[in-house]
Amino acid sequence: MDRQVKGAAHAHLEGSQLEHGVGPLRQRLAMANLRCQVCGGPAHRTLGGVLWLLGDDPDDPEVWTRGWHTVHPPVCLPCATLSVRVCPHLRKRSVALRVKTGTMAGVLGVRYGPGPDGPELLGPIEHSFREPGIAWTVARQLIARLDEFTVIDLDAEIEAAARDEIAVQEALAQARAFANAPG
Ligand SMILES: [Zn+2]
Repeated sequence: MDRQVKGAAHAHLEGSQLEHGVGPLRQRLAMANLRCQVCGGPAHRTLGGVLWLLGDDPDDPEVWTRGWHTVHPPVCLPCATLSVRVCPHLRKRSVALRVKTGTMAGVLGVRYGPGPDGPELLGPIEHSFREPGIAWTVARQLIARLDEFTVIDLDAEIEAAARDEIAVQEALAQARAFANAPG
């Protein structure tokens, strides 16, 4: 039964699933604390917002109508860079977002209901925090609703970050040279 439930939940999310799955506990911690879903470090953040990398097709209207709900926590820049290079799914189709505001909208879990011999497993469910009866749902993953965001060019941001890094290294090298200069 458990395998069936997992299969159903996975099938439901497949469209937006990163190839490497994140365990439920790690998913919830990363989502709640805005940590990178891959390495667990702080998610990349600029004035534009927190970096999210999703395996969705931005041209698919379905993605926009559901307000961009996701079970995928954000990412850091190195992990985003690596993911779009090594993950076959993301290589084919992905969208990078800078998220300014978002809300924890609900949970993805399994639902129980009253049965003759106690609680009975009803199946996988997405449960909004606004709906009643959440006590009957065993949460597996947190669902975030991304409210205010901009679609970004990830490659351009990676290049800019690399340029900044080189500039910082050059400045440090100059500072060191200056400090070590005689007299
Ligand atoms: Zn990371």
